[in-house]
Amino acid sequence: MFETLKPAPQDKIIALIAEYAADERDSKIDLGVGVYKDATGNTPIMTAVAKAEDRRVKEQTTKTYVGMAGNVGFNNAMIDLVLGDSISRDRVRGAQAPGGTGALRLIADLLDVAKPGATVYLSDPTWPNHVPLMQAAGLKTATYPYFDAETGKVKFDELCAALEKMTADDIVLLHGCCHNPTGANLTNEQWDKVTEIVAKTGTFVLVDIAYLGFGDGLEADAYGVRKLASTLPEMAVAASCSKNFGLYRERVGCAMIIGANEEVANITFSQLLSAARANYSMPPDHGAEIVRIILNDDTLRKEWEEELSQVRNHMVTIREKLAEAMRQRSNSADFDFLAEHRGMFSLLGISQDKVEQLKKDFGVYMVGNSRMNIAGLGVDKIDQFADALVKVTR
Ligand code: PMP
Repeated sequence: MFETLKPAPQDKIIALIAEYAADERDSKIDLGVGVYKDATGNTPIMTAVAKAEDRRVKEQTTKTYVGMAGNVGFNNAMIDLVLGDSISRDRVRGAQAPGGTGALRLIADLLDVAKPGATVYLSDPTWPNHVPLMQAAGLKTATYPYFDAETGKVKFDELCAALEKMTADDIVLLHGCCHNPTGANLTNEQWDKVTEIVAKTGTFVLVDIAYLGFGDGLEADAYGVRKLASTLPEMAVAASCSKNFGLYRERVGCAMIIGANEEVANITFSQLLSAARANYSMPPDHGAEIVRIILNDDTLRKEWEEELSQVRNHMVTIREKLAEAMRQRSNSADFDFLAEHRGMFSLLGISQDKVEQLKKDFGVYMVGNSRMNIAGLGVDKIDQFADALVKVTR
């Protein structure tokens, strides 16, 4: 079996982590891997998470199976958190999944049962894993225009033109907020327009929301997904708790489906659970129970929301200071987009050669497409990074 195999291509971020670790320069800066880092460079366990975890360990009485949909209290709390009052509960169902990735895979499997081999349109660029993930489920992938590397903004007219051409047999994947990798997002008015177009074409919408609360706040970041949910007869949402609860390795996500009515929602949900059964049977409970405890406890929830605000404000501060540092050094507004972007990433739009030069000459590590992790920078290294960036881009 194995003799004919060739090595799988190495994941670029994993390779970058190894290169960074081997770099002996004290001044090196890691802007690669997609995890949040605080001012000290740590990826902390949130205090609300630590408390909920403690409570869970003390109070848990059994390790028996949870069921294919996982933790039901978690699913209900996540539907409330993401969808608010945009949709009546008889039309929406949620299944806990191993991370946002697991939620995406469940939905992709479901869509391939509903419409085998349908095309999923992905933003250009998108989170690289969207492509193999959709293809592994049997779906085809194509792209729609999204990011203008010259201006750092969304190519909104081109995006709308592409949406207009999609049909009711197609699927479009939209990033709910904090677009990865670009950091460029839709305004509320643009979400309204996108909703109007997909409502007209009947194109199926899948929203991937992996950074809720990392942009402008929990409510503001949910504007687009809620607008779509309140308008469209059916759609799907893949939510992740990896970033906003800092639960990365616990693998916590939720796949939500919305049907035109209760009966359709129930049938669709049974197919979603079949996908879970075929993939892994049941999701791990630990992280989901932590999220359930936090979202259902007023004190812990308040603590979590405050901590999430600090995380968000930390990234916005770095963005503003970096844009200002670049304005001073370049004597231009060319990097002002950094302050306008939201979420953990920004795509700088510089060539791969320049990304290499940043690494070689200045010890700055970022992914080859020039995606930088804003949180990886930290306030104390802004000047050092701005000096390097201005040198390579001049
Ligand atoms: N979607 C996007 C856009 C992401 O950036 C990520 C995380 N990198 C995910 C989904 C999935 O995250 P996880 O499986 O770790 O919850």
